[in-house]
Amino acid sequence: IRYESGKGWYDARLEPYGPLSLDPATAALHYGQEIFEGLKAYRREDGTIALFRPEANAARLNRSARRMAMPELPEDVFVRAIELLLEHDSAWVPSREGHSLYLRPFMFATQVGMGVNSPSASYLFAVIASPSAAYFSGAVKPVRVWLSEDYTRAAPGGTGEAKCAGNYAASFLAQAEAVQRGCDQVVWLDAAEHRWVEEMGGMNLFFVFGSGADARLVTPELNGALLPGITRDSLLRLAPELGWSVEEGRISTEQWRAAAESGELTEVFACGTAAVITPVGSVRSASGDWQHGDGTPGPVTLRLREELVGIQYGLRPDPYGWVRALG
Ligand code: PMP
Repeated sequence: IRYESGKGWYDARLEPYGPLSLDPATAALHYGQEIFEGLKAYRREDGTIALFRPEANAARLNRSARRMAMPELPEDVFVRAIELLLEHDSAWVPSREGHSLYLRPFMFATQVGMGVNSPSASYLFAVIASPSAAYFSGAVKPVRVWLSEDYTRAAPGGTGEAKCAGNYAASFLAQAEAVQRGCDQVVWLDAAEHRWVEEMGGMNLFFVFGSGADARLVTPELNGALLPGITRDSLLRLAPELGWSVEEGRISTEQWRAAAESGELTEVFACGTAAVITPVGSVRSASGDWQHGDGTPGPVTLRLREELVGIQYGLRPDPYGWVRALG
């Protein structure tokens, strides 16, 4: 679907996957005016297909669009574009357990010219569909994370809470550092003090204090720098239903380490559309390593994962109206 200022959105098409032809002076290539979303289509046991909270992705795309001075796309157009893609060829939605069809809606500036003084006047919105397996091989294998103290992902007043290309471009060097240190993923800290935990490369974080019915969950509060994850939001509602208290707050790296070493912090997990819920078994930082419990996936992590995946695949009731079944 194309956009031009003064004209609005027009020219919706369904096309086979293939290369785009772009002018070398296309604005997005130079100034990074690009935003995107990520969601999945699930094949349920009865063979039908469902999307999980696509309206939430549509709303977040528009929040990103506002921050990036891009045009908003009507939410029903966003959802309808995805439905049309699935109606055209639903055979792409895998039926293997844990597999799904990953959908990548994105929008970028197509104006041609070198001027940087005003945002582009033309845009393209498109959706890529691609079958996907579980994010990390061996679905619930705990990951080891690296605390990135030299780099930051997002500064106050910056684009951290937008899902825009540049945030990810800024992440690659720290991710390479994490891999070099024998870790799977980076944990980002705040830009001002390099002390407060924000999120991971493509996931939000939850901390579990205590155990059993007394377990208490904390997730870093939205401060404008971290991405408001849809999985995070879903878990904020799901955890209390399963009997656990959950709050949004601040966690420092010192608190994280001290609580893990005292045993008060029993589990840590990361969550996102791609990874669902992934246990964080251990942490590596410039000042040392630590782990959570015995480093294996904890019961709260596994229970929340089971519940969320159950709702997504239609194996559990959906009292929240999160699942949008396709006709
Ligand atoms: N943080 C970042 C930086 C991400 O890229 C993602 C993935 N969209 C998330 C968190 C998790 O968000 P969601 O649950 O909506 O997938």
